[in-house]
Amino acid sequence: MPTLYEHEIESYGFGLNYTSSNIQLHPKGINNEVWLDLQHSFYTQLFGYKKEITQLKYFKIISHRNQAYTQKYKGRNVSKEWVIGYCKHNQKNADNRIKEYEEEEKLKHKQRKAIQEARQLHKEQEQKALQQAEANALEIHKHKEKITGYRPDAALCPKCRGDALRHCHYCEGTGWVSYA
Ligand SMILES: [Zn+2]
Repeated sequence: MPTLYEHEIESYGFGLNYTSSNIQLHPKGINNEVWLDLQHSFYTQLFGYKKEITQLKYFKIISHRNQAYTQKYKGRNVSKEWVIGYCKHNQKNADNRIKEYEEEEKLKHKQRKAIQEARQLHKEQEQKALQQAEANALEIHKHKEKITGYRPDAALCPKCRGDALRHCHYCEGTGWVSYA
């Protein structure tokens, strides 16, 4: 059975996922971007539930980096030396892709941060506007007599915003205020 270990290819900028039937090569650190999918074993179903594993003598190319290459090379048997040669040959491409990926990630991080900051700012502005509105409402009614409790012309208490469950002195816990 052909074997390949990550330490044999990582100096060329490649990483490796290993499953019971395949190995998948990707630019190191970008696990879901498979450049080479190789089969090393296959299963045969016996009696419906029992499985027999057959190990291949060579790696078999399942998919390549793109469709055109996959069509050209799919099913081809390749040796471990070939795979290492592939990694050497593509070292520059892998390194470039890793750099590009890191830039993409940095940019994504920056964008996420900018969105968070904008949200936070918006929240603070809303809070400020609300406080200002409350202050204005209190100022307008400062010299009038305040009546607490519900009546047809009553408005929600500007201090507790009508949350009568909160202990509020301004509306005496009723949630309603009107002015005479
Ligand atoms: Zn109140």
